[in-house]
Amino acid sequence: MSADYPFRFSCKRSGNCCARPEGRVRITETEIPAIAECLDLGVDAFRSRFLVAGPDGDWLLKMGLSAACVFLEHHEGLASCAIYEARPGHCRTFPFWGELREDGPMLRSALRFCPGMEEDPAG
Ligand code: SF4
Repeated sequence: MSADYPFRFSCKRSGNCCARPEGRVRITETEIPAIAECLDLGVDAFRSRFLVAGPDGDWLLKMGLSAACVFLEHHEGLASCAIYEARPGHCRTFPFWGELREDGPMLRSALRFCPGMEEDPAG
């Protein structure tokens, strides 16, 4: 998967990718039931409590007062996700996003905030 990307990646569980002020977590309609079940909530309750409609038919996770995702937790210095087993594809696939292959400034930003990414000029 990483062969097409100009970096190597090994997650260090910093949680930095889940706490970006400019970050938005996209959730698709089909991902909602599993996340709701993970939180022991009905689909409608989960939707009204945690989601807002996104611009393209998907959903966006509501942001709290801080930049961090509401499901980000830390245990003994390591980040974890409260809905890890059901986390959305948007989170599962970081940092292997098309934007990070095509958008130089975005890639440089990610290389700065993510300690698990390492530039690979041969990539
Ligand atoms: S849902 Fe989980 S993996 Fe996704 S941004 Fe929130 S804490 Fe991170």
